[in-house]
Amino acid sequence: MKRGLFAVASFAAIFGWQAASAAGVDKLYVLDCGHIAAVDQSRWSPGVNVGVPIELSDNCYLIHHAQGWFLWDTGIPDAVAALPDGVKGANGALTLIRAKTLAGELQGLGVKPADITSIAVSHTHPDHIGNMELFPEAMLYVQKAEYEWPSESGAPRFNPKHPVTLLEGDRDVFGDGSVVIISTPGHTPGHQSLLVRLPKTGAVVLSGDAVHFKDNWDNRRVPSFNFNKEETLASMQRIADIMAREHAQLWINHDKPQTDGQKKPPEFYD
Ligand SMILES: [Zn+2]
Repeated sequence: MKRGLFAVASFAAIFGWQAASAAGVDKLYVLDCGHIAAVDQSRWSPGVNVGVPIELSDNCYLIHHAQGWFLWDTGIPDAVAALPDGVKGANGALTLIRAKTLAGELQGLGVKPADITSIAVSHTHPDHIGNMELFPEAMLYVQKAEYEWPSESGAPRFNPKHPVTLLEGDRDVFGDGSVVIISTPGHTPGHQSLLVRLPKTGAVVLSGDAVHFKDNWDNRRVPSFNFNKEETLASMQRIADIMAREHAQLWINHDKPQTDGQKKPPEFYD
């Protein structure tokens, strides 16, 4: 018995989060965290489909692990759900809409905000961090480069009182390889993606905004407003390498056709 434990420990020590996981994760829910209507797709695909409108999904992902609930991204602010026409963003180029609140979706699953013990966000654009303070006690995992990235207004990107763990690279959240934050800078300075190893579904990479829809992934297109084009391309390649190694699916947060085809609560992936 002792020898077996030692062997497992050594394996994990040598291979880090790349070791096959003990799969403490057992549920992944795709939550509706809003909707984005844009007047011009080429905002994300320079020179392609110029002037053509596009609809984007905006998901949050709720993960249950034996050690607790973990939330990936927090979406458009719940307050937007009270505005039937949504709110305009990016100088009128986008309309952000919420059909339901994150608080309500969690309640529907019998999960209280206080049950969520940790959160990670892909990056600090407003369609991903809108409900951080619904979870004032939850540990936030974010890259140091994102946390410290100066905002246009000069205001801090997060409530300075919010518990935070600043990362400089990848992080195996629960220590068993089942939920791993992957550093994928480029869209923003400290952008990150998430590898989830589910017992039945297998490995899934949650894109964040490393890519916005499948056609951009297939053609390796980089939105003109990204922070760093070369880093974005390197991060896309990094995700492709992880997908090949893990035989992983890529779930693209803003790809509405893909999202429309996914299970919705109370259904989940296991
Ligand atoms: Zn986004």
